[in-house]
Order: sequence, then structure tokens, then C-alpha cells
Amino acid sequence: MTATDTGSPAVGEEPIEYDSLYIDGEWTAPTTIARIRVHSANSEEYLGSVPEASESDIDRAVDAARRAFDVPDGWSRWDPERRASLLNGFANSLETRATETARRVSVQNGMPITIADRIEGAGPAGQLRYYAEYIRTHPAEEHRAGAFAGPGAIVLRAPVGVVGAIVPWNVPQSITFMKLAPALAAGCTVVLKPSPETVLDAMLMAEAARAAGIPDGVLNVVPGGREVGAHLVSHPGVDKVSFTGSTAAGRAVAEICGRLLRPVTLELGGKSAAIVLDDADLESNLESFFAATMQNNGQICHLGTRILAPRSRYAEVLDTVTGMVSSLTVGDSLDPRTQVGPLVSAQHRARVEGYIAKGVSDGGRLTTGGRRADRDKGWFVEPTVFGDVDNRQTIAREEIFGPVVVVIPYRDDDEAVAIANDSEYGLGGQVWTSDPERGLQIARRVVTGTIGINRHAIDYNIPFGGVKASGLGREFGTEGLASYQYLKAIHLGLE
Ligand code: NAD
Repeated sequence: MTATDTGSPAVGEEPIEYDSLYIDGEWTAPTTIARIRVHSANSEEYLGSVPEASESDIDRAVDAARRAFDVPDGWSRWDPERRASLLNGFANSLETRATETARRVSVQNGMPITIADRIEGAGPAGQLRYYAEYIRTHPAEEHRAGAFAGPGAIVLRAPVGVVGAIVPWNVPQSITFMKLAPALAAGCTVVLKPSPETVLDAMLMAEAARAAGIPDGVLNVVPGGREVGAHLVSHPGVDKVSFTGSTAAGRAVAEICGRLLRPVTLELGGKSAAIVLDDADLESNLESFFAATMQNNGQICHLGTRILAPRSRYAEVLDTVTGMVSSLTVGDSLDPRTQVGPLVSAQHRARVEGYIAKGVSDGGRLTTGGRRADRDKGWFVEPTVFGDVDNRQTIAREEIFGPVVVVIPYRDDDEAVAIANDSEYGLGGQVWTSDPERGLQIARRVVTGTIGINRHAIDYNIPFGGVKASGLGREFGTEGLASYQYLKAIHLGLE
């Protein structure tokens, strides 16, 4: 199929074949014949393919973004009202494709469709509308009086330029828009490199952008693997890099950006703590607790996958968690009853199974799960709980990124905080308690970017990101927009 704005076939009905890349506002022939093929995480059936961008394709995409940024009176110079209006039009265009977007994500990475509809279908348009409204209501420049007598200066936040955006497969559309929405709102132009595991949703998003009339070169979509990703990061035409992915890849990206003195935002891995205090009522909060610890089959970076339970109630908490996890409905990600779907790929399943084996050999006690789910096809792993885990064990230290949680005992609040902070990472977490004030006091002591009291939340208006090996910088909110702007002071002339 040649991608057109009239719409692609629905995923699963017939293979979806794109023969071009989205560069400079056009569907453009790739420079090589290499292709990325994707299969259903549920059934392993072939879903379709897209061209795999080469370094030359990245060069063309960056050139297009560069021209679109530099042209006088182009996107970066549009007044905020005009940019906001087109961002809202883009949101409308995405909404007409939201159902298919959610389905494409769900079959590619195993995300249960009820989550995919909300996060991947509706989320991107919501993010665009949020930033459209933000730039309409928050001027990007102000007059600032100087400390000395004189006319002072205009202090303005200017768009940083061409953005190289690299995203993972686990929540591909929402993460894409955590970059695109603020970058476009700021007046930047973007080259987006989606992950090879989730390309069909990225191409549908490009169709939506084209249909909405996003100007040529302002958004370019070039799927590919890590080599082309690295080429984009170091490209001389790129002014800023925004990366979401593993900590290992983030370090490689950071090294390049460090050498080039290129601004970079890094959203990386996590191993967050769900601290259950001795007054917690988990039984009344099981749905939220599930969302906070195992949502999207554990394929979310800021889940509380280390559950810290007080020794005084350890057996009871472990029983509650085990009961909750063993009662989850495992199934086809497109079935609305499914709570836990398959993992993204056979390779990723093997990685998760490797961690389960390591957990067992290190003396962790499996209280439920631990095997492949009983299904003929698809990359399923049973939702799994390890009890009696020591925070020094590998399964308590490394990110597993599957439906596997560990339950670690602690003596008192101080030890709970110490264990929570004894991690390479610092991304998410929660405190579970009947006393919100006590929860707040504990939350203040945890070294992390985002933490919830009795919930796992994310909000467009509230900064999100990590500390330590979980990343640098923040997305969402005014902080997310600021990361695509640089501050410029124009000192006004004396009379
Ligand atoms: P990954 O690091 O393997 O790949 C992420 C993206 O980076 C892909 O597009 C990949 O092609 C590209 N890439 C890989 N190596 C690169 C390099 N050296 N240079 C440039 N690009 C490169 O991660 P993944 O397996 O796709 O995603 C899962 C990881 O992402 C987990 O560690 C998870 O915690 C993390 N993640 C973090 C957040 C967050 O907000 N902090 C959100 C989602 C996922």
C-alpha cells in the first residue's frame, strides 16, 4: 500500500505496507530497500512493514527540518495563536484516527486495549491541546527591569531549533507527544525516530500530521534502529535531542551530546518503590495498586515494581499482592477484559524469563506465576510475584520491564525510605497509607522524580522525569515546554 491521507487499512485485517518515509511533508521513497517488519504480540502473525530509514534518509529529514526552522516567517516565527490553531487541528486529525492508533499499538506491543484507548488513542490529542492552550495564554517574552538604572531588557524564550526525538516501544504515541507537543508549541521542528517494534502507529500519526496541514519539514518520521538513532543524535543539523529509552542507550546518547555540548532530555529506566506503610488498606485500593505496579504488562518505566512491606504485616501484604496478581485476567491485548497482555517480542520475553530464573536461583520465593502463560501463540508470561526478596538481589536492582514484582520486607519507616533510595534509579514510586499526611512526609524523603500517595498518576500540567540513572530534565508542564526553548535577553538601547 502507498500511504495516503485517505487512511490505511485496519490493523489485523490485512498486512499494512508503507512504501515511503514521511520527510518534508511528503511520502518520500527511502534510499534503501531495507524494511522493518512487525508481528502481533498476541498471535505472532505478520502485521505489516515500513521502510527502514538509512543514515541518508536521516540526513534528508534533518535537512528538511532545518530548512523549515530557518525559513523567514516559517513555523518558528508564527505567532502563538496561529501555531496553537494548527496544533488543535492536528489534535482533531489524531482523534479521527484514535481507535486505529490504539489498536495498532496494542497488537504491536501487547498493551491492553482499555489502556491503549485512553493513553495512546486519546492522550496525544490531549497533550497537543494542553500546549496549544498554554502558548496562547503564557507569553514567551517579558520586559525585565535591570538592577541598574536604564531601560532594562526583553527576556524571551526562543525555540531551540531542530529537535531529534527518539522514542521507545512501550507507550509509543504518548511518549512521542511528550516531545512533539511542547517542541512544536515552542516553534521547533522535529525529526522523530520511532522504535522498530512500533512503527505502524508512527506512520498513522504522520498521516494525521499531513492531513492536518502541518507545514512541510516541521515534522519528519523516520523509523529505524539504534545506528540511525545514533546518527540522528550526532547530526550537525540537530540543535537538541530528546530521548526516552533504556539507561544504557541513554548513557550513549548523553556521551555524544556531552561532547557536542548539545542540550538533551533523557527519560530512562526505573525500579521504583511502592512503599506500603503499616496502616495501609491495600484491599480497598487493589485496582489502583495494580495500575501502579503492573500496568501495561509491567512495560512502563515508573511502575512501583519493588513493593516494600512492613515486617509487622509482611505475610498479609504478600498474600494480598499474590492474590491480586494471581487473579488477573491474562489474554489477547485487544480483548477489553484483558488486564495483562503479552510482551512486545520473543526477545523481550526471553529477557524477562531470564530475570525470573535469576530470581529463583538467587533464592527469591515465587508466590505466583513464573512461567509462560498457557497459550499456543504470543509472547505471554504469567504475572509473577517474588516474596522474601532482599534489596541487594538482581531482581530488586535491575529493571525487568515485565509483569514481575518483588516484595521486600522492612522494619520501620526509616528503613523503608532507605531501601526505596537504595537504587541506581529514581523515577516513580508511591506511598500506600491510611494517613495522607504521614504519606506526604515519607514521599518527601524518597529520592525520585515523581511519587504518588495511594496512586500512580501522570498529568500534562505536572513535570515528569527522573533523577540518578533515570534521566535528566523534565517533560510535561511549563518545564517540558522550557526544555525546547532557550533564554535570550535583548538589552534595550539607551535614548
Ligand atoms: P532502548 O533504549 O532499547 O530503545 C529506545 C529507543 O532508542 C529506540 O527507538 C531505539 O531504536 C533507540 N536507540 C537505542 N540505542 C540507541 C543509541 N545508542 N542511540 C540512539 N538511539 C538509540 O529502549 P526500549 O527497550 O525501546 O524501551 C524500554 C526502556 O525505555 C526501558 O528501560 C524503560 O524504562 C525506558 N522508558 C523510560 C521512560 C521514561 O519516561 N523515563 C518511558 C518509557 C520507557
